[in-house]
Amino acid sequence: MRIGIIGAGQLGQMLGLAARDLDIECCFLDPSVAPPAATCGEVIQRPFDDADALARMADGCDVITYEFENVPVAALRQIAGRVPVYPPPEALRLAQDRLDEKRLFDELDIPLPPYHAIDSRDDMEAAAATLGLPMVVKTRRLGYDGKGQFVVTSIDNVTAAWNALGSQPLIAEQWVDFDYEVSTIGVRNAAGDVRVYPLTHNVHEHGILRTSCSPVDDATLSRKASDYAHRLLDHLDYVGVLALELFVKGENLLANEFAPRVHNSGHWTIEGAVTSQFENHLRAVLGLPLGTTDARGHAGMINLIGEIPDAARNLADGRLHDYGKEPRPGRKLGHITVVADTAARRDALVDKIDKTVT
Ligand code: AMP
Repeated sequence: MRIGIIGAGQLGQMLGLAARDLDIECCFLDPSVAPPAATCGEVIQRPFDDADALARMADGCDVITYEFENVPVAALRQIAGRVPVYPPPEALRLAQDRLDEKRLFDELDIPLPPYHAIDSRDDMEAAAATLGLPMVVKTRRLGYDGKGQFVVTSIDNVTAAWNALGSQPLIAEQWVDFDYEVSTIGVRNAAGDVRVYPLTHNVHEHGILRTSCSPVDDATLSRKASDYAHRLLDHLDYVGVLALELFVKGENLLANEFAPRVHNSGHWTIEGAVTSQFENHLRAVLGLPLGTTDARGHAGMINLIGEIPDAARNLADGRLHDYGKEPRPGRKLGHITVVADTAARRDALVDKIDKTVT
């Protein structure tokens, strides 16, 4: 079997490594020179919407998937009649627009912070009056890792926020004074089988994921998160892995966003779950039975951002994944996973390694 993967970054690389064990061949599409996944298969070095390259992939692969959220939906739709494209392009379209995404959460009764669409300066003022301050203004499209965001803390900030972001459609959200952040990662195949990984606690720094720990020891939150993941997966007639990020406030969860792809907060599943998110994504899109998503102990993941210090290469109790990327400030270059037999031991390890590598 041969799978076409749009995007050849570290997510593509980890899909490629999982594919090797399943005896599946990979072919990637990515405009960058020597991307991380180049070690795992042929890379067609063309833009993501290059019609010839997409046609070549459609003709030469059994299924097409993507590891990158900014793939033009029209490009996917163009090939969807010739070869199965999973996750469904409609799921990507909804995830690419924060307003459509929030309307979907509303439709599915998944709780979320109050929000307000902004297309003008007047809308921005109306949003501040309706939502109260602070509020977070975000671009509707192409925002990630906290980019394209402005926190409005006082009414005097409204002009600054408008000047910074107002040239494009925006959305404002009420500021959530959350206890912590979690994500739930689910997988569904075309037969409608669904499995959900244990809930993951995520810590972000400057909008970028820093650490993830799983399982979260809270049965109520886990049940709610799993229920919301099921609703999304079933409603979208989804095939593949989907990640839903949520804010925790007491016993309540508020949805922030979903990603129609394998996710950084699920990297711990390589060592910490019976079947990794990468293997299960491949199984789902190829129509194979899904693997068990149970945890193997208590796992933690530390992202390596900007550089991989030498200390990260000599750890006795953590496994390094080096994506082979050029160092650059703010860039995700690799991660370290730990697995322990208790949550307390896992937390101590994550803390120790986090201090060692920063
Ligand atoms: P996002 O790009 O929407 O995932 O936002 C990046 C990070 O900004 C989130 O993981 C949160 O830490 C923070 N954030 C986003 N929206 C809100 C909000 N409405 N209230 C508080 N913090 C937020």
